[in-house]
Amino acid sequence: MPNPMEIYKLLPKTNCGKCGEKTCMSFAFKLLNGEKKLEDCKPLYSKEYDVIRKKLEELISIVEKAKETGLIINEELCIGCANCVVSCPVHVEKDPKNAGIGRGIEIDEPILRIENGVVVVINLSLCRRYGKNRTLCVICRENCPTDAIAFVEEL
Ligand code: SF4
Ligand code: SF4
Ligand code: SF4
Repeated sequence: MPNPMEIYKLLPKTNCGKCGEKTCMSFAFKLLNGEKKLEDCKPLYSKEYDVIRKKLEELISIVEKAKETGLIINEELCIGCANCVVSCPVHVEKDPKNAGIGRGIEIDEPILRIENGVVVVINLSLCRRYGKNRTLCVICRENCPTDAIAFVEEL
């Protein structure tokens, strides 16, 4: 599976905002999550990006073909920092001012939780990579400082 940095490197990197994102990096994440489409980046469709756009289309077609995914924690690498728990969008709740707050540590039904110094999977069925409205979310993996999270892809 391509990662956000691979996608980002091929984008115009002008942070023009035409896709509705403040930065090209944010757009790269959302492309992988399925929240954005390549067509949302209008500058990519100018002639100068023809070759690069084809490369991006190839990468995105790999993402779109992924059918089943699983999330695996490498307990030997996990240092229990909880970055994944806090950054997971399913764990985020809105505060009274409508700001998103990562509540992974205290939420009743988390996907991931820290137990005995390592992260454990509590309920994978809540993960955005599952279910009928699934997206190819990669946020926990991208926030892990030790590369302890891997996704199993069945293409
Ligand atoms: S429209 Fe394209 S170039 Fe502009 S910010 Fe979005 S991804 Fe970057
Ligand atoms: S893949 Fe996304 S939804 Fe699933 S646990 Fe990781 S951050 Fe949460
Ligand atoms: S971000 Fe990585 S190291 Fe930190 S708790 Fe999660 S899996 Fe473990």
